Amino acid sequence: MTPKKTTPIREGKSKILYSTDSPEHVIQFFKDDATAFNALKKGTIKNKGFINNKVSSALFQYLENHGVKTHFVHYLSEREMLCKKLEIIPVEVVVRNRAAGSICKRLAIQKGQTFEPALIEFFYKSDALGDPLIAESHIYHFKWATPKELEVMITQSIRVNDLLKSVFSEIGLELIDFKLEFGREANSNVLLADEFTADGCRLWDKKTGEPMDKDRFRQDLGGVDEAYLEVSKRLQNYFEASL
Ligand code: UDP
Repeated sequence: MTPKKTTPIREGKSKILYSTDSPEHVIQFFKDDATAFNALKKGTIKNKGFINNKVSSALFQYLENHGVKTHFVHYLSEREMLCKKLEIIPVEVVVRNRAAGSICKRLAIQKGQTFEPALIEFFYKSDALGDPLIAESHIYHFKWATPKELEVMITQSIRVNDLLKSVFSEIGLELIDFKLEFGREANSNVLLADEFTADGCRLWDKKTGEPMDKDRFRQDLGGVDEAYLEVSKRLQNYFEASL
C-alpha cells in the first residue's frame, strides 16, 4: 500500500517535504517557485514542479537501474514523488566537467574550460552562510560524514556523472556541472537524495552552446519555461525509445 501524506516537515526553495503514515517514507512535493543567488532573486517557472518531478523521477529510476542507490521509490502524482526517509548529510557535492558559474569567479578560470577527469568540490549546506566551499577535512572534523561515507558519495557522484553525461549527450545536451545531495538510512546506508533537474545542473545545447537550465533564469536570458520543457521532452522521448 502506498504511504499517505500526513504533515509538512519543511519547505525549501523548490520543494516541500511531507511525512507519511509510514516511518520509512517521505513525499517530495515539487513547487513552481524558482530562486537564485541564495534566494535574492525569486520567480516562478511555468509548470516547473510538474516538469522537475517527471525529470527527476525518470533520471533517478535510470540511476537505480544502473546500480546507483537512491532515495527514489516511485512517482506518485504530477508534483509528488515517494522517497525513502533519510538523514540528510549537510554536504553538497558539485561535479564539474567544464568551468561555469562560481568556479570561474572564485579562481579566475575561463568559462568553458574542460576538466578531465571531472573536478569535484564540496560545499557546506547552510542557507545562513550561503553554502560555503569546504575542504574534505572540514567534513571529518565536524563529523558531517565519515571518510567511508564520503568515499561512497564521491564514487556515486562519479558514477552519476558517467551515466548522465551519456544520457544527456544522446539528447543533444552537454552536462557541464551538477550538484548532488546524499543522506543516510536508519541502517546507515548512504543513498543519493534530493533531485536531479535543470535547477541543479548546467546543460548546454551541443549544437548552439545555449544554456538549457536555470542559468536562463539566473541571467534573464528569456525562454526559461521553454528550456525546462524542451529538456523534459527530449528525456521523455529518449527513455520511451529505449524501453
Ligand atoms: N547548484 C545547486 N544548488 C546550489 C548551488 C549550486 O543546485 O545551492 C548547482 C548549480 O545549478 C550548478 C552547480 O551546482 O549546476 C555548480 O554551481 P556553482 O558552484 O557554479 O554555483 P552557481 O554559479 O550556480 O551559484
